[in-house]
Amino acid sequence: MRVLFVGPPGAGKGTQSVLLSEKMSLLHIAPGDIFRQEVREGTELGKLVKSYMDQGALVPDDVTIEVVKKRLLSPAAASGFVLDGFPRNLSQARALDEILGNNGLDVVLNLQVPVEELVARSASRRVCPSCGKPYNLRTDPPKVAGKCDVCGQDLIMRNDDRPETVRERLRVYEISTMPLIDYYRTKGILEDVDGLGERDEVFARVLEKIRKRLGDEGRS
Ligand code: AMP
Repeated sequence: MRVLFVGPPGAGKGTQSVLLSEKMSLLHIAPGDIFRQEVREGTELGKLVKSYMDQGALVPDDVTIEVVKKRLLSPAAASGFVLDGFPRNLSQARALDEILGNNGLDVVLNLQVPVEELVARSASRRVCPSCGKPYNLRTDPPKVAGKCDVCGQDLIMRNDDRPETVRERLRVYEISTMPLIDYYRTKGILEDVDGLGERDEVFARVLEKIRKRLGDEGRS
């Protein structure tokens, strides 16, 4: 199964795509996570991408495509994958089509959440600077306020979750990423998913769409 999650920043793509990859034993590929780890480790790639990420801008296509391509062509991806945050514009979508060739995506899940909720979600997001574990102060807080459950580090707000950066990321989403919705709808593989509600409620909707697709494939 080859699945892609699209949706604005803060829609829950990260959470839902990890749940799905675990449930269906699929490789989870998220350039945002890969880039954040490179930044934490202070690598050359990390230094290159940091300024883009801090401004809420997209990392250049050639860099991003290379990072994702390496994973898509790895043996771990052969039995299926969940893409989270790639592609984010039409040229990345075309590059993805080229990389996948005849084994294209099975389904694209479009997580839909109203803008006011997106801004509120980003404001309550925290992350551990050491291990990268994400938290949400409203829906998934740490056991001890302000500290990571795993390593005890002080939690921080991602630079790109600051309100001014969130506004910029939403703008970039509208201009660059929204055209993908039509691109995949035209291909007949897009499924809209209501992203409002508890994590498990949304996940149940995700699974329902996947089952529907698997059923459709079985009949075709
Ligand atoms: P995310 O965790 O998916 O919200 O991504 C965090 C940041 O990583 C984005 O704001 C971009 O700066 C960068 N990034 C993630 N995915 C991509 C992509 N497909 N193309 C370009 N930049 C990306």
